[in-house]
Amino acid sequence: MKLNVNLNQLPDNPYLLLTPGPLSTSKKVKAAMLRDWCTWDQDYNELVQSIRSRLVQMATSHTDAYTTVLMQGSGTFCVESVIGSVIPPSGKLLVLTNGAYGKRIAQMAEVLGIYAIVLDSGETKPVNVKQLEEILKVDASITHVAVVHVETTTGMINPIADVAKVSKKYGKTVIVDAMSSFGGVPVDVEALDIDFLISSANKCIQGVPGFGFIIANKEALYTCKGLARSLSLDLYDQWETMEHGNGKWRFTSPTHTVRAFDQAMQELEEEGGVLRRFERFTRNQQTLVAGMKKLGFQTLLPDEWQSPIITSFLFPDSAVFSFDEFYARMKQEGFVIYPGKITAAPTFRIGNIGDVHLEDIHRLLQGVENQLFWKTT
Ligand SMILES: *Cc1c(COP(=O)(O)O)cnc(C)c1O
Repeated sequence: MKLNVNLNQLPDNPYLLLTPGPLSTSKKVKAAMLRDWCTWDQDYNELVQSIRSRLVQMATSHTDAYTTVLMQGSGTFCVESVIGSVIPPSGKLLVLTNGAYGKRIAQMAEVLGIYAIVLDSGETKPVNVKQLEEILKVDASITHVAVVHVETTTGMINPIADVAKVSKKYGKTVIVDAMSSFGGVPVDVEALDIDFLISSANKCIQGVPGFGFIIANKEALYTCKGLARSLSLDLYDQWETMEHGNGKWRFTSPTHTVRAFDQAMQELEEEGGVLRRFERFTRNQQTLVAGMKKLGFQTLLPDEWQSPIITSFLFPDSAVFSFDEFYARMKQEGFVIYPGKITAAPTFRIGNIGDVHLEDIHRLLQGVENQLFWKTT
């Protein structure tokens, strides 16, 4: 769809967001929001259908077996929609955790009264596939396995292919929170045999917040009718209305956000697709880490477990360092960085997803070098 906006009239952002979403978006993505849409008009519904089919194409080359559901709210709402809608009352969930987002899934199960067990591998280790198999071998009552792809808490990339393979060997339904990776790390849901994959508009696809989406295996989704523990987050119902209503949403749809997302998807296609974007993020991340190491910083994770999405850096070993001061100084330099979120060690995080390019990373490194205040005192 064509934009009729003079981009020069749009204000520049005062700083670049180096956060894992909401993140820095292009001017065209922001400009796409400057018109109103009717939520049940054909123009809008066609846009929704086009987004849905392009998302399935992005998720797999075997598109026939999969469908998409768009869901209002932030990413957590979409995860909760899946957890609350796909596990039958007699079901049992195994959650693999190594950070805040895995824990959040376990918390959802608890709130929803779903029987769940947690296999935690600590904050600085990938989820443990060997232990997963040992549990699945002895506990036949488990029906579903949930795992986070990139645990944004640390930047860890989890071995989802192995998790799915072992889970399928024992006949389990596989749920993947790919919130911070989908669109930025190549994944084929059919090849990996993932039943439900969740992501949101404002992460690697570089849209604005307001909704998320679920890529679902059709056969797995068809079994979920009438299972939901929530009215508004009923995954099956939302799918049925969208599918049979040709792009209709059950309740008010975030129209401006959806239009911005369409633009963001177009820009992902123009960039050359998911693989090209993965390469950009990887280049950003490697350049960032090499530059930060030169300035005396260390990463929390070894390179082999590190995703290209976001990196955790240990605080420098100095009594003078304070994150608040570093944050404020970096903001002065034109960059918003992210606090750490783990208990194992004091860290801060720098994301490199969004409309962020190599020249931005070079500018950032210069900015950090300008502000090594704990070294000069
Ligand atoms: C961002 C994110 C979520 C969702 O967080 P919201 O704040 O609800 O958007 C869930 N899981 C992961 C791994 C994330 O990175």
